[in-house]
Amino acid sequence: MTGRPLIEKRLVIATHNPGKLREIADLLRPLGLDAVSAGDLGLPEPEETGDSFTANALLKARAATTASGLPALADDSGLAVDALDGAPGIYSARWAGPGKDFAMAMRNVEERLQAKGATTPDRRTAQFVCALALAWPDDHVEVFEGRVAGTLIWPPRGALGFGYDPMFLPEGYDQTFGEMNPEKKHAISHRARAFTALTGHVLRARKHE
Ligand code: IMP
Repeated sequence: MTGRPLIEKRLVIATHNPGKLREIADLLRPLGLDAVSAGDLGLPEPEETGDSFTANALLKARAATTASGLPALADDSGLAVDALDGAPGIYSARWAGPGKDFAMAMRNVEERLQAKGATTPDRRTAQFVCALALAWPDDHVEVFEGRVAGTLIWPPRGALGFGYDPMFLPEGYDQTFGEMNPEKKHAISHRARAFTALTGHVLRARKHE
């Protein structure tokens, strides 16, 4: 399928988090766009009421394109644990509470795995998932997804990264995401894979113009 070439110069990034804007602007560099954040434009932040990563990314991208009149990009991501039927999933950030206590969130994951008797690596598989949604003011949307598979270890290891990184051992590696330097993590992460899908798609569409 050939998508939209995204020839508009300005793209709204549907986030109010300056760190995320920087990271996303970096990942979008191959497209040569001018990325401006929803926060900088003073756009309202919609409630994430969707029931999937894609639904939440779409909801944020649609809100930003409607409010700004510009194309908008939103992401939604989290950790899906197989033995917990995909939890924490879209609730990954919420499990850490208002104090963003990820030591607590990881303990919560571990306690639930223990309660299920999931003590061997084959019962402790999980994926980080990143959904991206591009939305235009005329209601056209395009979605992309990236995943990285791994197993969950206990106790957590490493102080790099964020969120659930210290308990996530990506498939084929002996370092957790919390032990990897950012370049190494970014080469294989769910977010990097989703952005590679998006930029590849847009660049192909531009070639077909
Ligand atoms: P979002 O900002 O709404 O997409 O929430 C993502 C949440 O998922 C974060 O707060 C983390 O808890 C978790 N998460 C997403 N990506 C990663 C990652 O690369 N490492 C660790 N945790 C992640």
